[in-house]
Amino acid sequence: MSQTAASLREQFPLLAAAPELHYLDSAATAQIHRAALDAVLHHETTSRANVMRGTYRLAEAADRAYGAARQSVARFLNADSADEIVFTSGATAALNLVAHAFGATLRPGDRVLLSVAEHHSNFVPWQMLRDRCGIELALIPVDADGRLDLAHLPELMGSRCRLVAVTQCSNVTGAWTDVAAIVAAARKAGARVLLDGAQAVQHGPQDVQALDVDFYAFSGHKCFGPGGVGVLWGRAEVLAQMPPFHGGGGMIVEVTLQATTWAEAPQRFEAGTPPIAQAVGLAAALEWMMTLDWAAIAEREDRLCRQLIDGLSRIPGLRLLGPLDGKRAPIVSFDMPGLHPHDICQVLDAGNVALRGGHHCAQPLLTALGVDVCTRASIALYNDEADVQALQDGLDHACRELA
Ligand code: PLP
Repeated sequence: MSQTAASLREQFPLLAAAPELHYLDSAATAQIHRAALDAVLHHETTSRANVMRGTYRLAEAADRAYGAARQSVARFLNADSADEIVFTSGATAALNLVAHAFGATLRPGDRVLLSVAEHHSNFVPWQMLRDRCGIELALIPVDADGRLDLAHLPELMGSRCRLVAVTQCSNVTGAWTDVAAIVAAARKAGARVLLDGAQAVQHGPQDVQALDVDFYAFSGHKCFGPGGVGVLWGRAEVLAQMPPFHGGGGMIVEVTLQATTWAEAPQRFEAGTPPIAQAVGLAAALEWMMTLDWAAIAEREDRLCRQLIDGLSRIPGLRLLGPLDGKRAPIVSFDMPGLHPHDICQVLDAGNVALRGGHHCAQPLLTALGVDVCTRASIALYNDEADVQALQDGLDHACRELA
């Protein structure tokens, strides 16, 4: 299959219909692939019914489609079993699920170790748990480039660390986390590891067994699938020990006037009607992703990222945030003293360049990097040199216009 950026771009209906658009905000939401849209439409027009409830043929077709979607996610993550895949409404919901359900197994004084580089969705649920249940939170600091500083991991874990919950890749700096080092230290301390894969999944299929973590969370809209769906993968024996998060239909064995008994995972964690068509669409996106040559895509994304960094570093006064060397995801954030990111984004939007400006739901990280807000460009598999050039030209223009 041809894999030029142009041939990939054609497969995304929104981008195909807007050739003038330079979309550089895929870290916020990636565009949806045609296969995902087609799968949602096909499902809704041929198999729409509730799941795990009906015995008529249409409901059985819905059950099969939903079950097949779980299998696709399991293959994408190289999970041991589809029963380890819990569908949620997104990464945020998956992270909240762990904070509540795994959190319910923690005792006052137990410790959860996060990092300063977390997205708010992997910060706030843990602070809420701390305030409710008296657990301790500790934080892995970051260096001047926003990379996790793992020098003092054993001390940070202390003697009662039960979970290390960190991002696999920063949504601000593009820095990848050294997961192997964290897993090694966590295993020594007897702690579980949760990986927030929200920014990793759009750069290729993942292998939770090779990563050797216990939980993995991501959102469908960041890996070319629909919005409103996400995934929590959990190791079977860990999920088995967790109580439910939400109560409702579909997650029980029996309800009496006095008490309820829980279904096994994954149903235990999917109370109510799940995002059925969205899960089917996500599966189609992941199946498509599994056909791609990710080494070639990584090489192109990396080249574009370097080109962008080189171009931006020539703009007087502009400060690039994040590591400039080593392996990084194609996410480039910068600060232009005196120019607000919202103004920069508006000027660039006039030239059809879509960028994100603000705190990126990572205020602790931005504070550590010495800024309140910044502008971010993120590159995905459908971007090319013209997008990077348009950003650079737009920024030159913004500097003149706003100075
Ligand atoms: N984690 C990271 C690293 C993210 O970048 C994001 C979203 O940007 C999230 C979690 C939350 O994802 P969602 O808003 O899809 O739940």
